[in-house]
Amino acid sequence: MLNKNKKNNDLMEKIVSLCKRRGFVFPGSEIYGGFAGTYDWGHLGVALKRNVTDAWNKAMQNHRNMTFLDSSIFTSGKVWEASGHVSNFSDPLVICNICKEKSRADHLLENAGVKADEKLSELNINKIFDENRGTIKCPKCGGKDFGKVQASNLLATSNLGMLDGKENQVYLRGETAQGIYINYKNVLDTGFVSIPFGIAQIGKAFRNEISPRQFLFRKREFEQMEMQYFCHPSEAIKNYEIWKEERMEYYKKMGINPKKLRFKPHENLVFYAKAACDIEYEFPFGWSELEGVHYRGDYDLTQHQKFSSVDMQFYDEETKEKYIPHIVETSVGVDRTVLMVLCDAYCEDKIGKNERIVLKLNPKLSPIVCAVSPLLKNKPELVEYANTKVYAPLKAEFGRVIWDDNGNIGKRYRRQDEIGTPFCIVIDFDTLADDTVTVRDRDTAKQERIKVENLKKYIKEKIN
Ligand code: ATP
Repeated sequence: MLNKNKKNNDLMEKIVSLCKRRGFVFPGSEIYGGFAGTYDWGHLGVALKRNVTDAWNKAMQNHRNMTFLDSSIFTSGKVWEASGHVSNFSDPLVICNICKEKSRADHLLENAGVKADEKLSELNINKIFDENRGTIKCPKCGGKDFGKVQASNLLATSNLGMLDGKENQVYLRGETAQGIYINYKNVLDTGFVSIPFGIAQIGKAFRNEISPRQFLFRKREFEQMEMQYFCHPSEAIKNYEIWKEERMEYYKKMGINPKKLRFKPHENLVFYAKAACDIEYEFPFGWSELEGVHYRGDYDLTQHQKFSSVDMQFYDEETKEKYIPHIVETSVGVDRTVLMVLCDAYCEDKIGKNERIVLKLNPKLSPIVCAVSPLLKNKPELVEYANTKVYAPLKAEFGRVIWDDNGNIGKRYRRQDEIGTPFCIVIDFDTLADDTVTVRDRDTAKQERIKVENLKKYIKEKIN
């Protein structure tokens, strides 16, 4: 077990280090010693993230009755009062009396092998924590002396307006979903959709996480991809089941190892939820939530109706029925998806006698589709050919194409393997004679000669 844990910790460290070394992700505010829970996306990270969000958008677009929204981060404080975030959106915080480290009580219990859900009431979690005080250790100093478990609100705040002060305090949104609920009537009134329909949105969310950790898994500023499906109450559970399966299939089709994906039904449903489950992935640090699929009943719209006094009912012209639609939600983090994709793709293997690190990314997600290399960079005829006949047309077609003439060919392959580039194209002296190039496959390291005129088609077939 110890070895397995060490191996998995090593794997996370390797991924973090690769991300920095190759320009996927940098620690936030690094030159000032870092800023907990924040990361900055580098050139390749931006591309990978964009491919992840494109894939999600495409999956949502496949639904005829799907609409898209981009709501604002700053919203009226009433939104968060109505949603329950001001009073209830909290994590159980516990402070070590010895070193003052702040931890999540449910995580400490979990580390000590005690099952506890963070959605337990404050009273219950305090009781379970008290019963296990002797076995729970502080992750920083190893001490066993803790204060009381308290609810710590997750909403991040800021100030708007000229003066600081309570009256100017605003909440940064803790989830994108609320922007969808408060616009549901606007979308319906545009007349393009009727019940059932969905609203999908990608955007930033902010949470005052007690202990941001595990790299991209738990950040304080992150991005969510959320979809809320509005349906008749009698159809909701059916739609919940459909979305559950669809979302799982989506990950399998993305090429994620199916053995590392599973459903986890929620054991302690929040009072308004009718059914809920997580799609979990086996990260190097264990099985953890990737996406939530929730049947939320009419809670959200009822709350906003109550607080805004706007009628949230839908009137069905055909049946003459008036009702508040029920909602099925799918909610996943962009950052968490990227981390899963990286963990799933990371491999160390040997090509002949040479060890290598390779990201076996689905070519659709790879930041770079292909690298173009003249065999020798000091031969103008090779460089000219590579530039005009290969690089320029491929760049115009795919965008995600890189010019790589740095170091010898072996080094170039290693570098491209590490960033998950599926194809390396080399222009050599034979190219000048017969208009063929070498295309090397990332996963098998096999090389093929391909006619330059067929390159676009060849790559298109592989990445679509
Ligand atoms: P957790 O139990 O891991 O704290 P949660 O149940 O609070 O997550 P939700 O509120 O359901 O998460 O958020 C939906 C999704 O948003 C999560 O499944 C996850 O993918 C993503 N997410 C939530 N919090 C974070 C975070 N701090 N950093 C990165 N992604 C996050």
